[in-house]
Amino acid sequence: MATFQPVRGMHDLLPQEARRFSFLIEQGRALARQYGYKEVHTPILERAEVFSRPLGESSDVVGKEMYLLTDRGGETLALRPEGTAAIVRAFLSNGLTDVLPWKIFYAGPMFRYERPQKGRYRQFHQLGIESIGSATPWEDTESIALAYRYLISLHIEAILEINTLGDTPSRAAYKEALVTYFTKGRSSLSALSQRRLDQNPLRILDSKEPEDQELVRNAPLLKDFLTPEAQMFFETLCLGLQTLGIPYRHNPRLVRGLDYYTHTVFEFVPSTGSGTVLAGGRYDHLVTLMGGPAIPGFGWAAGIERLSLMASIEEKMECLIAVIAIGYEAEAHVYADLFRRQGRIVEVFCGKDLGKLLKKADKRGARYAVVFGEEEKRSGTILVKDLDRRTQEHVPLACLERFAADLL
Ligand code: ATP
Ligand code: MG
Repeated sequence: MATFQPVRGMHDLLPQEARRFSFLIEQGRALARQYGYKEVHTPILERAEVFSRPLGESSDVVGKEMYLLTDRGGETLALRPEGTAAIVRAFLSNGLTDVLPWKIFYAGPMFRYERPQKGRYRQFHQLGIESIGSATPWEDTESIALAYRYLISLHIEAILEINTLGDTPSRAAYKEALVTYFTKGRSSLSALSQRRLDQNPLRILDSKEPEDQELVRNAPLLKDFLTPEAQMFFETLCLGLQTLGIPYRHNPRLVRGLDYYTHTVFEFVPSTGSGTVLAGGRYDHLVTLMGGPAIPGFGWAAGIERLSLMASIEEKMECLIAVIAIGYEAEAHVYADLFRRQGRIVEVFCGKDLGKLLKKADKRGARYAVVFGEEEKRSGTILVKDLDRRTQEHVPLACLERFAADLL
């Protein structure tokens, strides 16, 4: 019988990778805490509209990538494709709109039906922050600074690209100009972008279809349609980044795939050319889109698989103690417990042949072997072997606790 394989685009995190993931999340969590963020967990399943309404049917995530299922009660649910809409749902359904800002850190699996390739999976993991309730460009600056410090701490070299999508009046004026421009060239657009032209012309700028590229390249730029307020907002952000010493590049063609962004959008693009590692922006209308009051927000998310591909993490060697019992299994487990209560990592090996057991312990990467056999039983001691230094000593059982605490 054939064995089961994981679902395409989904993978097991085996111990080494799982450790890297834990490290990346712990590092992000600790740094976010320094900036005043608190962690929350939201469910993996949400009602599908939690995502389809704010992200827009014409977004790739909703239109092509969302995992949908009908539960036994007939309700349409989605495996969450991203964190922001779920966090805003939690913000609203828990009635948290009175105490602002609400600053949240999250980490966990996300699901998108995409073509799997390096750094792109169908179950992947994100960590991110959302700051709900602050409307000033300094909020954007501070949140981007957190992202920047995080990537630096992981030794990831990535270029920060920023842009502004302006406010509602800027967007309306720009949209009109875009429609005029793309309508003239309509026949040379891809079928997908012709549809976008009617539904959501801004999205054409995000097109990956080769036949669209020429028109997209020469399209009008939003920066020429900004209201003075939107212009000012963007300038303050740039100034803020300069003040904090954060290098950036203004990419006037950067648009993000989701409908809910306003003003600032940004991405950290690895200097080695592979996909975006961390991205986000401001979403001043998202809370209203989801049925709440007019409360602004800002957030970003990083793909943990992509972080892991790029991060250089110093692996701390774990100090494993092998408790080896020649006979005397019960005693071995008592001593193992004693070492564990001192915070040590311990595995127990029982058998008859000390040589074989030592070899086994060595293969597991043990730093110390603690041997208890006939001779130790008689003398009331335990034999401690330092497997690196190749030294050994008999420790009286009465001193064992002290010894365990002082061990390297
Ligand atoms: P891309 O353009 O690479 O598809 P995106 O704009 O769809 O990215 P976001 O929705 O902004 O991505 O998600 C934030 C981050 O999550 C991305 O920068 C990336 O690191 C990660 N990410 C997104 N989709 C995937 C995926 N399918 N597999 C692994 N990581 C992903
Ligand atoms: Mg995508």
